[in-house]
Parts: sequence; C-alpha cells; structure tokens
Amino acid sequence: MKPQSFYITTPIYYVNDLPHLGHAYTTVACDAMARYKRMRGYDVYFLTGTDEHGQKIERKATAEGFTPQAYVDKVAASFADLWKLLDISNDRFIRTTDADHVAVVQKVFEQLYAKGDIYKGSYEGWYCTPDEAFFPETQLVDGKCPDCGREVEWTQEEAYFFRLSKYAQPLLEHIKAHPEFIQPVSRRNEMIKFIEGGLDDLCVSRTTFSWGVPVTFAPGHVAYVWIDALTNYITAAGYLDDPEKFARYWPADVHVMGKEIVRFHSVIWPALLMSLGLPLPGQVFGHGWWTVEGEKMSKSRGNVIKPEEYAAEFGVDAVRYFMLREVPFGQDGDFSRMNFIYRVNADLANDLGNLLSRATAMINKFTDGRVPTPQPLDEQVEADRLLPTLADEVMDRAADAFDKLAFQDGLAEVFRLVGAANKYIDDVAPWSLAKTDEGRVRLSTVLYNIAETVRVSAVLLAPVITTGCRELWRQLGLDISPLEAGWEAARWGGLEPGTEVRRGDPVYPRYDAKAEAQRRAAAQAVTAAPSASPELAPAPAAAPADVAPPSEEQITIDDFAKVDLRVATVVEAEPVKGSEKLMKIQVDLGWERRQIVAGIAKHYSPADLVGKQIVVVANLKPAKLRGEVSNGMLLAASTTGEPMVLATLTPDKPISNGSKVK
Ligand SMILES: [Zn+2]
Repeated sequence: MKPQSFYITTPIYYVNDLPHLGHAYTTVACDAMARYKRMRGYDVYFLTGTDEHGQKIERKATAEGFTPQAYVDKVAASFADLWKLLDISNDRFIRTTDADHVAVVQKVFEQLYAKGDIYKGSYEGWYCTPDEAFFPETQLVDGKCPDCGREVEWTQEEAYFFRLSKYAQPLLEHIKAHPEFIQPVSRRNEMIKFIEGGLDDLCVSRTTFSWGVPVTFAPGHVAYVWIDALTNYITAAGYLDDPEKFARYWPADVHVMGKEIVRFHSVIWPALLMSLGLPLPGQVFGHGWWTVEGEKMSKSRGNVIKPEEYAAEFGVDAVRYFMLREVPFGQDGDFSRMNFIYRVNADLANDLGNLLSRATAMINKFTDGRVPTPQPLDEQVEADRLLPTLADEVMDRAADAFDKLAFQDGLAEVFRLVGAANKYIDDVAPWSLAKTDEGRVRLSTVLYNIAETVRVSAVLLAPVITTGCRELWRQLGLDISPLEAGWEAARWGGLEPGTEVRRGDPVYPRYDAKAEAQRRAAAQAVTAAPSASPELAPAPAAAPADVAPPSEEQITIDDFAKVDLRVATVVEAEPVKGSEKLMKIQVDLGWERRQIVAGIAKHYSPADLVGKQIVVVANLKPAKLRGEVSNGMLLAASTTGEPMVLATLTPDKPISNGSKVK
C-alpha cells in the first residue's frame, strides 16, 4: 500500500526584511509537524520559501545599491541559512524568482483569462510620480505623498482584475461545510463575517514597476502579489511539470501562517483554486503573534528577537522547544528571556535530563551498566505498572494533540510521563531495594521502567528536540535516532534487556536562573526609581469591622523588594494528616517544584487547588509544620470574623510560572 501523503507549507516570506522570531515560529511549527507525520509513516512534502517580487523590493534593492536579483539572492540566503541552523527539514525552498514558478504564474494568468475570470479594467488612486506608487486616500499625509511629501495626482492605470466577487457565495458554502478549513475557530468566524460583507474584485497586474512576472498576453504588465505569491504552493507540488507528483500531494493538507495573512489564504487563494478547477487545501491555520517581554516586537523598540542568537546561547532544541511549549499554537504569547530560561531548566535540564542521568547512574551502579530484565507483568507490584500504562496513554494523547497542531498539549503530555517517572524514583527509592534479595528482584523492574520511560519520551519529543532525542537514545545504548525509528518505537517494551548504557554529559545544561533574575532586577531598579509622595495617599477610611487594622509602620521600597513574590501553579494538594487546618501543596515555580504547607484546608479542597495559579513568597526560610517541610508561603486574604473568610490570591489571567509579583 502506498503511504498516505501529507503536504504542509509555511507562507513564502517577503524578503524586505531579515528573518526573525515570527518567521522562525511558523517554520519550526511546520517542521515539527512534518517530522511527526514522517515518523507516523506519511509521505510528507514540506515547503517553505521566499516571496521576492514587487515595487518595494525593487526600490529597496536600488537604495542599497543592488540589482533586484542580487538583493533577493542575498536575503533569501539568510532565510535558508537560518532554516539550516534551526534543523528545518523542508523538502524544497521555493523562490518566486525560480523559473518553474514564473512559468506557473504565467500559465495561471492565461488560464484565468481564458475562463473570463480575469478582465481588463483600470486601477485608480492617488499617484506619486517620483515614487511611482499609488496610495489610498487614508495613507496620504496632509493630502501629500506619505513617502516623499510631494504632491500626488489622481491617476488611472490600466490593470487586470480577478473576479473575486463571483466566488463569495461558493467560498461561504465551502467554509460552512468544512468547519476544519479555517483554524482556530476565531479566525474562521472573522473570515465568514468578512466574506459576508461582500468581496471586491482584485487587482492582479501592475504597469508601474517591472520587478515581477510579465503577463504574457499584456506587454508592460507584471503579475501583482496574489497570483504570484499564492500559486507557489501549486508550483512546488508540480502543477505544470510533474502531474504524478501533483496528484500525490495536491491539495495541501495544511497551510500554516501568522494570523495577519489568514485572509489571503482563506479567501483569495481558494477563490483562485476554484477558478482553476483545483481542489482546495484541507486547512488554513493562523497562529498567534509574539510580544517580547510584554511589548510589541519592533525594530524601533530594538527588541527584535533573533533566533540565531538564542540558538547560539541555549542550543537549537531549547529554541524549538520553548516556542512550541510556551504558548498554545493559535494564541498570542510573550517571549521573555527569564521564562525561556525557566522553561528550559525546568523541563529539559531538570525533568528530562535528570531522569536520564538517574537512569544511567543507577543502571551502572546496580546492574553492571546493562539494562536489566523486568519481572513478568503479572508478577509486578501495582506501583510498577503505573509507568507502562501511563506511557501508552501519553503516546496516544500526544499523537491526538500533534495531529491538531496542539504542540503545547502534546509536549505537556510527555512531560506528565517524565514527571511521573521522577516521582516514581522518589517514591520507590530504588537504592533501598538493593539491600535485600527480594528487593533486588523488584529493582530490575524499577530500573527498566525508568530507562524505558526515557526511551519512550525521546521518541515522543523527537519532532521538536531533534538533536537531543538522539543523544538521549545514545546514552541509553541505542545507535539510531528516534526520528528514524518512527513513532511506533514509543510503544512500551522496546528497550532490550542487556543493552549497555553509556553514561555521558548532561544532554541539556542548566542555566543560572538566579543570576539572570538578579541581573534583571538590578536593571529594573535603575529604571524604576520609586517616587515617595505621602501627601498623595488617600486619607484612611474607617475599616470594616471584620478586617485587621491597617499597619502603623511604614516600610521602604527596599524592604518590600526583599520579599520575592512569584506566581506558581499548584500541581498537587493533600491535607496534612492529623491537622484540620493544614494543606500540603506542591507548586511549580517555573524553575523548580517545591512543597508548601498552608493553613487553608478548611477553605479549599485539594481539587479546588490543583491547576490553580497562586502567588507565593519564594524566598521564605523553610520551616517544618506538623513534620512537613514548608518551603515558602502562599498569599491569601482573610477576614478576622467568625467564620473567617479566606481567599487565595490568583493572577487574573494565565501567566508563566515564576513571574515576579510586585
Ligand atoms: Zn512620493
């Protein structure tokens, strides 16, 4: 049987700018998806490339002293270089200046014209002669050219138009009949509204510049944006020169892009395809945007994130992992250096890296460096069957998530397994089993389970951590990459007893989050000097009867700054035995997990707390309460009345664990 095909694309990136975080995000996401599908046995075609024509490029090239071709060659190369660095496995890097693409654009123009869907009309607007550019009324500055400030003239230009209006109804019908066509669903609703508002015909040729694909039947005209850019997806699939390939890959399964260009892909592109009589792509997926440290990313702010710099400092896996793990794909997110370090430390260095090093160290110590043979399943104690069961469940759920481009969910699933394995080691304490004969029988099972969990996790993470997955396997004594082994290699039990492990360096180094936090705090203290103006403080009103009286003592900002308040998520909660009041909770602080004991058991059940984000004092000296270590304190408001009302403090929207509260 022929393997099922899977065709995935990034947009072609416009070469008026060097690649940045936004481009890398789309491309890494598509790469993870392409690799995942290949691991599942699909015949994958993964396309990315560059959009190289237009007046803007022509001008930019001239301004920088290049011919347009030399300019686009230079910028296209910088994209290709970044993809190589980020371990992107695209099957082709298409450029709109490629000869086969130019031929497709010309052919499509002719086909649409022959069909009567392209007609000659005139393009009208305010025209700046020295700039050779049209500007809409709304862009004019004091009625003059926004670029050079000179007078503009109302001008008509002969141009060809595509009958987009004709396709409004068929498009609406298609979108309504195929709920999966535009994702996420919020984008779908926007598009429906947009089309229902009516569609204007689309200008598809220009005569005011020459850096474009010439229209064969209309000398002086070059193809304008849409037909040139969007048809790259069929060029690469072999529309004109490879019918067999075209039958194999077209229609594309998913076009992935930033949300700002969903409209072009879900309105103009399907209308062009309908006119050409070609089937429509399965899905158009618009992902969200990144802010940087809470601010819009822009050149003028000087906060543009260069993926290559992060890759050089933290490694390619860390960059790929952070982007896909930090934010649900489809939503906006914030790129923060501190959260980057927390995330990479917590998941890759601590949870995953630590599990591997515990596994290989114990196998070296207790079973001669060889993977031991586990007991038959029916002789195992129940606790030892937890990981095998969970691993199979996680494998299925991670696949479901990846199939939907829900990378964050899929990765979280895998780390649920990794976390369970670390907890299993803490609970079972394998080193104590080694002391008795009976214990040693079970020890083999325990060590097998731990090593096998690492092996399975490396397979499930392989689409994202493309380098480290191989090293994880290598240290387990396996000589191929999980990417080659395929998704089914994640089935439990694949690790052969007797395999010799190779203890090595940590796969993921741990970064000094504390030093980074101190450096940043120092930088912030300089920019945000406190202004003390007590006369502006409101006069105290009479306090309600059931609250504590206000404090008489004033503190300085420095006093307050000593308290390190952080957001944390409650991951586990249970009442402290023998106490009515105390609850023992495990919290995830971003860079670590820790236990806190709090007097909230009368007010909250464990189920109320798990998954909730709270605020904790992170630098409180540890204390013991009823024999339990409390490493920090959670913040809660409470009344003095009887019965006392108590409410924990929680951020009003989800925010990264470890975020500072001030
Ligand atoms: Zn001008």
